[in-house]
Amino acid sequence: KAKKDGKTNWMFFSADMQHEALRKAVTERELNKALENKEFELYYQPLINTITQEVVGLEALIRWNHPTKGMVPPGAFISIAEETGQIISMEKWVIHEACRQMKEWESQGIPPIKIGINLSPIHFQKMNFIQDIKKIVDETQFDPQYIDLEITENLALQDTEKVLEKLQSVKGMHITVSIDDFGTGFSSLLYLKKFPIQTLKIAQEFVRNLEKDAENQSIVTSILALAKAFQLNVVAEGVETIEQLNILRHQQCTYVQGYYYSKPLPAKECFQLLQKPRSYDNR
Ligand code: C2E
Ligand code: MG
Ligand code: MG
Ligand code: MG
Repeated sequence: KAKKDGKTNWMFFSADMQHEALRKAVTERELNKALENKEFELYYQPLINTITQEVVGLEALIRWNHPTKGMVPPGAFISIAEETGQIISMEKWVIHEACRQMKEWESQGIPPIKIGINLSPIHFQKMNFIQDIKKIVDETQFDPQYIDLEITENLALQDTEKVLEKLQSVKGMHITVSIDDFGTGFSSLLYLKKFPIQTLKIAQEFVRNLEKDAENQSIVTSILALAKAFQLNVVAEGVETIEQLNILRHQQCTYVQGYYYSKPLPAKECFQLLQKPRSYDNR
């Protein structure tokens, strides 16, 4: 009987694998069309200074308006795009579109604001990544000092010398760098010493249940201490409740992002937000 069960399990596994391979192949094909047919869109989520209640930056987050499936979240296609290499052209589009949008808002009277752009390690490691960015900056005429590249700490697992060299070129362009989802990767903390970065973004895993979870509180306290020692800015991601916000404020975590203030917004709504005095009152 046990043997039979084993066999059944194996068959399920195999069917799952086939299904997964098919899903990937379909997604790959659809992603090609998505680029051609302009199905991608950027949403923008504000970063808030909790002391002044001001919007101090935005993060660009890709959305896919699929012709039949509707809005597809990045979690469903980024890793496939990384496997197929399509991430490169997709992210070139993201960077270009973000810079273009910022420039358009500037021409409509919005003072420039920091724009965070998530960068896949696959893209960062591409040989002419720096040239790609320079080209986009040239084309859009957006001031690169307002670009913040969000990389993940797993990048530090790669050839450190090459990564360091690239980060220095990025710094040379006055582009800043944040470590996204800080604390969830596999790298050592050595890179904090070596890499020219400016900001740690505390992963939302650690902010979740902050009001009840003593371990998360300890982790957040440690990250804040680490950031202070290395003179880095900190942004807490995924802040959803006033309780979480108050704990973070109490610990002098000045910058937050999360549904408590705002979900990622389509460009139009973000523009309306930026047109108002850039602050949330009554909080
Ligand atoms: P991320 O960079 O850590 O972005 C934050 C994610 O958390 C976003 O999900 C955002 O919508 C969500 N979020 C923000 N505040 C809250 C909150 O209060 N509660 C909860 N539950 N979630 C919140 P999204 O837009 O689905 O993006 C998921 C991930 O996909 C991003 O995580 C980022 O790593 C990746 N991604 C998005 N756009 C790009 C891109 O252009 N390039 C690359 N390489 N990755 C991207
Ligand atoms: Mg991010
Ligand atoms: Mg990210
Ligand atoms: Mg994150």
